[in-house]
Amino acid sequence: MKKRHLSMLLSRLEGFPEPKPELEQYRTPGNVASELLWLAHSWGHIAGKVIADLGTGTGVLAIGAKLLGAKKVYAVEIDEKAIEVARKNAGKAGVNVEFLHMDVSEFDVKVDTVIMNPPFGSQRKHADRPFLLKAFEVADVVYSIHLAKPEVRNFIEKFSGEMGFRAVKLKTVPFEIPAQFHFHRKRLERIPVDLYLFERCAP
Ligand code: SAH
Repeated sequence: MKKRHLSMLLSRLEGFPEPKPELEQYRTPGNVASELLWLAHSWGHIAGKVIADLGTGTGVLAIGAKLLGAKKVYAVEIDEKAIEVARKNAGKAGVNVEFLHMDVSEFDVKVDTVIMNPPFGSQRKHADRPFLLKAFEVADVVYSIHLAKPEVRNFIEKFSGEMGFRAVKLKTVPFEIPAQFHFHRKRLERIPVDLYLFERCAP
């Protein structure tokens, strides 16, 4: 599979039917998801590996990981409505993902790689913290997406360091959010996000 093909396939999946602002339900755009998945794949962190997608939403990253040859994918999500959509999307893509309806803090399976798009924290500051905390607990390798803002970058780099992880900022890409909440003024918001790789430092 080519990156462009993966991007197209993921873009065609169904989005959130009624996105909930308090959960920061922004679907990961196909191009951003495929960019992150492709980087992880090229470094050997997907094929044949056990993966977790924390806050899977509509399942884009989980499905993409499976399409790139992951051995098993756990997809954790607190919102049942989103899981319904994600299940449908996985069926459409013809892949098998294990969906877990729970808060990320309850997930306790050790995995090889976490690939996630956590809430950005634009509604609630540091809403991505419990996601990073869990990811650092269950995996040595974590790929994640965060707002490309100085205060977020400082927090991410400091927090991951304290948790014994090295943060590598891989790329900054535009993330398109269609107007879906009342506080959105523009039809389409394009916000820069950082794609990160976190690796556990040797003890
Ligand atoms: N990659 C997803 C988008 C993720 S948005 C997609 O493309 O659809 C962040 C997701 O985290 C949302 O689906 C939201 O419902 C979920 N979420 C927020 N808080 C959570 C929590 N505490 N535990 C589990 N999931 C949570």
